[in-house]
Amino acid sequence: MMKTMKAIVKQTRAFDGLVLKDVPFPTPDDNQVLVKIKKTAICGTDIHIYNWDDWAQKTINAPQIIGHEFVGEVVEVGRLVTNVKVGQLVSGEGHIVCGWCLNCISGTPHFCCRTVGIGVDMDGVFSEYVAFPASNIWVCDDSIPEDVLSIQDPLGNAIHAALSFPVLGEDVLVTGAGPIGLMSIPVLRRAGARYIFVTDVNPERLKMAMEMGADAVVDVRTQTIAEVRAGFKNITEGFDVGLEMSGNASAFSDMVDAMANGSSIAILGIVPQNQQINWNKVIFSSITLRGIYGREMYNTWYRMKTLLQTGLAEDVAKVITHRFHYTDFKQGFEIMAAGKSGKVILDWGV
Ligand code: NAD
Ligand code: ZN
Repeated sequence: MMKTMKAIVKQTRAFDGLVLKDVPFPTPDDNQVLVKIKKTAICGTDIHIYNWDDWAQKTINAPQIIGHEFVGEVVEVGRLVTNVKVGQLVSGEGHIVCGWCLNCISGTPHFCCRTVGIGVDMDGVFSEYVAFPASNIWVCDDSIPEDVLSIQDPLGNAIHAALSFPVLGEDVLVTGAGPIGLMSIPVLRRAGARYIFVTDVNPERLKMAMEMGADAVVDVRTQTIAEVRAGFKNITEGFDVGLEMSGNASAFSDMVDAMANGSSIAILGIVPQNQQINWNKVIFSSITLRGIYGREMYNTWYRMKTLLQTGLAEDVAKVITHRFHYTDFKQGFEIMAAGKSGKVILDWGV
């Protein structure tokens, strides 16, 4: 009889449509490793797939195993694998690159023009075992809690965005206190930011932003950024660095209006089609805009390891608000889709 394992599959092309089912047990090829999954985390991307929005309908080839945030243990390595050993605790970069385009061969593979996303363009990791390309495996420090190791993908987004411009002595505005915006706060602090302002429309998340070290939060439903900024006399012209982490049209527009001349904005949030901003402000204030996608391969992962080893693990653990056994995954999706959580972890232990 064929060997099988449990996996969370987007089965039907509709809202929810997720089922836990038996799928074929994976066999790693020569360049893959077999990972026994320990913990996975639900990403905003998985919620798009759950909600079956326009992006998911265009992108996901259901039925498909979903998920890309994980930590697990290597239980088998392919014949040609030399960088990973059986028994190591690992996570992995979810963007698989082609290896031969100009960016790949020039040392900037995170700009690869043929990037394929695990759990998006192909089967993901919400399963008991996964055959994962050895090239994308990241060996973890096993003294860091597994819950935290399972959220390195979004933490890497936060680190990549937060370090995309120098922030030493600068005033930083973060729009959106979702998990990624929240995790950027302790990174910005370590990088030397002076004031860190965070906006959102969700009071629970703004409370978490203060707990994670923000200097001020703005609930844009009831306050403007300018009103809160007025209490900080040292901010004379506007913010020096902006991190757009909401994907919300008005948040991005508010940010542009709040920036100082010569400032810089890193855009991670996925803005709606036809997003309008004050372009003349961008031009006359000489604002630099930079799109941020994924993580730098593998500089972000390396810095993440050293930051986690020097205290960041304790700080970012605060964004993990819920834990469920994988068989209760529906509860995790429901609570996250309702915006009532930080990171939600699924435990794949028995
Ligand atoms: P999230 O959806 O949990 O967080 C977004 C936050 O923005 C929420 O807390 C929401 O309440 C808040 N928000 C809504 N309207 C707002 C407004 N007007 N002003 C300020 N805040 C507002 O998402 P996340 O997982 O933290 O990810 C953040 C964004 O980054 C999302 O848009 C996500 O799709 C995107 N993303 C991009 C990449 C990339 O590589 N570029 C990777 C992962 C996620
Ligand atoms: Zn490439």
